[in-house]
Amino acid sequence: MYPSLEYVLTKRYLVGVFLRCGALALFIMGAIPLLQMAVQIISDNTSSRIQMGIQRRLTTLELMLAYLPATLQYIVPAVVLLMFHDRMARWIAPLPRPRCPECGYWIRAGASPKCPECGSALPKALVERGEDK
Ligand SMILES: [Zn+2]
Repeated sequence: MYPSLEYVLTKRYLVGVFLRCGALALFIMGAIPLLQMAVQIISDNTSSRIQMGIQRRLTTLELMLAYLPATLQYIVPAVVLLMFHDRMARWIAPLPRPRCPECGYWIRAGASPKCPECGSALPKALVERGEDK
């Protein structure tokens, strides 16, 4: 038999949750280098207050540039995942083809709520979707 609409929508929802959790994990991974950088800047700052201000600022900038790739390699995929998780979930769990769950007859958009072939009741979402979309 064909997978039911409820099954596919549940699967799609769970895939979406999984992808969002993955994005969250990537954000956390990306935050770790930022925290390391902050700790290094703060500890550096307290241990070498005597240094001149301009040199201090340069060192901080260099530190930030050094940690930037380590952060971006996680943050960029996380942002992409967050932007496209809905689309990816639809791609991973596509809706079942618009067929009658009982006999497999192709359902057209705007068709009657009963299958013209076998007369069984059709799910509302299936009738609305139909063959045209
Ligand atoms: Zn049918």
